[in-house]
Amino acid sequence: MDNKLMLMIPGPTPVPEKVLLAMAKHPMGHRSGDFSEIMAEVTQNLKWLHQTQNDVLVLTASGTGAMEAGIINFLSPGDRVLVGSNGKFGERWAEVTDAYGLQTERITAEWGKALDPEQFREKLEADTEKTIKAVIITHSETSTGVLNDLETINKYVKAHGEALIIVDSVTSLGATSVPIDEWGLDVVGSGSQKGYMIPPGLGFVAVSPKAWEAYKTAKLPRYYLDLGKYKKDAAKNTTPFTPPVNMFFALQVALQMMQKEGLENIFARHHRHTAATRAAIKALGLPLFAPDDAASPSITAVMPETVDAEKIRSVMKKRFDIVLAGGQDHLKGKIFRIGHLGFVCDRDILSALSSLEATLLELGHQFTPGAGITAAAKVISGL
Ligand SMILES: *Cc1c(COP(=O)(O)O)cnc(C)c1O
Repeated sequence: MDNKLMLMIPGPTPVPEKVLLAMAKHPMGHRSGDFSEIMAEVTQNLKWLHQTQNDVLVLTASGTGAMEAGIINFLSPGDRVLVGSNGKFGERWAEVTDAYGLQTERITAEWGKALDPEQFREKLEADTEKTIKAVIITHSETSTGVLNDLETINKYVKAHGEALIIVDSVTSLGATSVPIDEWGLDVVGSGSQKGYMIPPGLGFVAVSPKAWEAYKTAKLPRYYLDLGKYKKDAAKNTTPFTPPVNMFFALQVALQMMQKEGLENIFARHHRHTAATRAAIKALGLPLFAPDDAASPSITAVMPETVDAEKIRSVMKKRFDIVLAGGQDHLKGKIFRIGHLGFVCDRDILSALSSLEATLLELGHQFTPGAGITAAAKVISGL
């Protein structure tokens, strides 16, 4: 059906009508007092969302640009960095640190498994010379639906004392608690098209005082992504370069909506949707790709063995106007991924899971009809 498409992918995510309407305005001058007012409000609300008093800077970039900024501003050529790599995004940050001539040590885990914090502990404890300058972790690994144990890994980084912790929080921020100040996270990157309920185009980087100390002596080249420029201008409620002002209108409204819902409710909603989705997938007899104790709060990956993952996606799209994500790299065709991030309500989850059941019936998968949706409905109803 025309104009009925439902995005259940891990970004871009659905956008509320209020936010779309806020964008449908003439752009305003970014050096105007009106823009500064918006900037002042969103800066405060971003700190609230990030649970921090640290700077939260806004870049015109996707999440990758935010992460690249979060890496290059605080390091120098040849610096030793540990990069957790257990999926497409973790590996991407290792590619960035390679590209900038950092001494990159990958700590890997099989795709679909969580990183082992003990491997970080061993490397960090052995580094008595304090040569490790940063540890880079992807909190929610979107390519596999795995949530890495950031809290534990971060404890080992804190015990090391020297290294910065740099976090890709692109699909965990706004889905589960990432208490930046409580945990002492130095650099946290995210992107607008994920948990923020707005279209793609903005990147966000939270920066701790310790990271700003490192910034002073960091020697990697930087210009457009020089976060010092953004910090200086943010203090005056402006930006160093022309920002996509209509995206700021969107951000303003989305943050107001999030504040109205409240952080605890937002996290509870994401956890409920994760639990409902996983319960349904199990009841349908399909294997979940990520283990229960490392389930991402925003994306559930499924590895169907009896039916073709791409066929499932194709029927879901054609018959039900629901877009699911496929697998990336070697997982292409092997898994499909259900996004439940951002502007997603209980009804969306129930529609998606019942449509999935209908799809599986059509494709001849053997299961008890109604089993998945019954399991999901029980979770949604708190039974
Ligand atoms: C989406 C995503 C990114 C950023 O990707 P962009 O396409 O650059 O916005 C980074 N990390 C994770 C875990 C993501 O899901």
